[in-house]
Amino acid sequence: MEELTSRQLLERLVAFPTVSRESNLALVDWLETYLTGHGIECHRHWNEDRQKAALMAHAGPRVAGAVVLSGHSDVVPVDGQAWSSDPWVVEERDGRLYGRGTCDMKGYVALAVWALVRAQKTGVQRPLQLALSYDEELGCTGAPPMIETLGQVLPKGSAALIGEPSRMKIITGHKGGTGYHVHVKGFEVHSSLLPEGVSAIMEGARLISWINDRNAAIQARPPGPVAATFRPPFTTLHVGMISGGTAHNITAADCCFAVEMRVVPGEDIAAHEAAFVAEAQRLDLAMKAVRPEAGVELDRFFGVPGLVPEERGEAEALARRLTGDNAVGVVSYGTEAGQFQEAGYSAVVCGPGDIAQAHQPDEYLELSEFVAGQAFMQRLLDICA
Ligand SMILES: [Zn+2]
Repeated sequence: MEELTSRQLLERLVAFPTVSRESNLALVDWLETYLTGHGIECHRHWNEDRQKAALMAHAGPRVAGAVVLSGHSDVVPVDGQAWSSDPWVVEERDGRLYGRGTCDMKGYVALAVWALVRAQKTGVQRPLQLALSYDEELGCTGAPPMIETLGQVLPKGSAALIGEPSRMKIITGHKGGTGYHVHVKGFEVHSSLLPEGVSAIMEGARLISWINDRNAAIQARPPGPVAATFRPPFTTLHVGMISGGTAHNITAADCCFAVEMRVVPGEDIAAHEAAFVAEAQRLDLAMKAVRPEAGVELDRFFGVPGLVPEERGEAEALARRLTGDNAVGVVSYGTEAGQFQEAGYSAVVCGPGDIAQAHQPDEYLELSEFVAGQAFMQRLLDICA
């Protein structure tokens, strides 16, 4: 089988419109055929309805201690976005590679695939693994089962390099997070009879008001040493969507909103969640005292552990050798790195491109970033040789 350049690999990967709501199997089929065609061992982890699969691959000797190159196969939609060119065709303009996923994060995946094939061809002492997940853009829900399977079907790797766009800077910590869909159920009466009904909107507002108070209390505390490196240097709770009500003179039957928490690593996400859930339950009881049909329902739709900066972490040391970057870097968005760390891997985030370009119309990866990523992989091959 013909060996493709990293650029050709990127073009092939971008051509699969692997929006999270769609199947990613066409991409996985193609990539698995390509990797096995070069003698690389591959495994899949299927999702529940078998419409998606994570792909895991191993190049080099079948021993423990691999460097795991991790990325996600899914991309965010292009619906309603104004694109200057076909989002599913890589187009080079002004030193930039345009296309959905070039930055987040098929650029890194292309480089990782290139490195695995090189490793297999030239021979390495230390193995390389690829871990390609699905549903990352839906709240990193695909990685935990993949990571579990990875440890069962292949020799356990030790250092995980998660290539989310960081301009090839080393990110040793990120916030964790969780999200809840809140459904406040009221009881409809004519608003002139307000005390006999329950307004889902007005009760929901109490819970949102509690969130505002909680933010204020959190921000009033001096940040700890890990928190101080983040922007902002504290945990935040946020309501990003709200809907409810049918008329100005009817107490609202429904009010729905989405709450997310971004928690500084080292702080207990479960404790933040417990405080929120307890408040929702308190409100639920108060509403039921007026109308038993009323109340608050919570649906936890994602939860991602933070990435805790490691003391003399192996992944950090390796990535610093590969990039020469010695700065302390932390980010406030979540990645799969915290999930690898939770599963016993040393983990950092380091990848080409700028997070500012991710998810945007006319998403692009600067060619210089792709070149830097290629040099990173070449040095990794040299170190593993
Ligand atoms: Zn991403």
